[in-house]
Amino acid sequence: MSRPVREGARAARVERVRARMGELGVDALLLSLGADLPWLTGYEAMPLERLTMLVLPSDEELFALLPWDETDDPVRLVADLVGSRASLSVSDRTWATFVLDLQDSLPAARFSVASRVTAPLRAVKDDEEVAAIRRAAAAADRVATQLVSGDIALVGRTEADVSRDIGRRLVAEGHQRVNFAIVGSGPNSASPHHGAGGRVIAAGEPVVCDFGGTFDSYCSDITRTVFTGAPPPEYRDLYSVLEAAQAAAVDAATVGTPCEDVDAVARRLIDDGGYGPHFIHRTGHGIGLEEHEDPYLVGGNCEPLAPGHAFSVEPGIYLEGRWGARLEDIVVATAAGPEAINGVDHGLAVVEA
Ligand code: ZN
Ligand code: ZN
Ligand code: ZN
Repeated sequence: MSRPVREGARAARVERVRARMGELGVDALLLSLGADLPWLTGYEAMPLERLTMLVLPSDEELFALLPWDETDDPVRLVADLVGSRASLSVSDRTWATFVLDLQDSLPAARFSVASRVTAPLRAVKDDEEVAAIRRAAAAADRVATQLVSGDIALVGRTEADVSRDIGRRLVAEGHQRVNFAIVGSGPNSASPHHGAGGRVIAAGEPVVCDFGGTFDSYCSDITRTVFTGAPPPEYRDLYSVLEAAQAAAVDAATVGTPCEDVDAVARRLIDDGGYGPHFIHRTGHGIGLEEHEDPYLVGGNCEPLAPGHAFSVEPGIYLEGRWGARLEDIVVATAAGPEAINGVDHGLAVVEA
């Protein structure tokens, strides 16, 4: 396990975590799998049967770093480090086998999920993180530019083939990992969670491409919809409603605005355009070390946007069995206003059939 960076951004994160642990009355944070550990230390635990766990007490300055031998009981080691501390928050993705063993070893302790402590803190990106998200977005933008300018052949290829092509391009532009590359053509464009299948893309239809990867630990995520040939007026109408809704939602994402209000702006415009029942998912999700994290732009989330919140704004309109469209940018809330960090043109791109 690498030593936590004690200076700069990561040290500031540890301080914020400790302060929040104090507010919540959490005595120790137990970090294993998931993004909390790399966020704090730069080290990512491997999903192995051998336990990696950082014990971060609220009341001690130093992390304990304990390598253990094959014959040691790591759960016992963690329990010893925890001692009599009673309120423990454990990584949401820690394997159940370890959590259950820890509960047996610490019968007096109360367990909660670490995201209680970390999620609202991780949602607010520091300058270093915003810069990383920007680099990831720029790399995804280069691929999206290739898509909308017709450099990626579509007609006559399967969705799966185009998806693999987009994935290769994400890597060529600097991503270390492809997280997803959705390609939904024709009627499949009406299915927001379509993956990419064996359907051969034809002329005269929309193709929704939603893709992203991990670039220096931070995620990219962008959606552009293209049309293979001249779009019919009905589709142009649908798309112009979507484009206006997406732009209005981005403009609405000012500091202090409740997340659900941004969602409501997109929903109202799509409703006014006559497609209300066809916008069937939330407007956006936070992004950072994970593709989906706080804050979520969804009805019921009244949390106000704060400077440093990074999130997608991605309304869609889906006419089941027929066609659909989605338009997505990553946006950072700043004191000076919302900043869309994807720069690829928003218009309906017509690619040669
Ligand atoms: Zn996306
Ligand atoms: Zn997204
Ligand atoms: Zn998504």
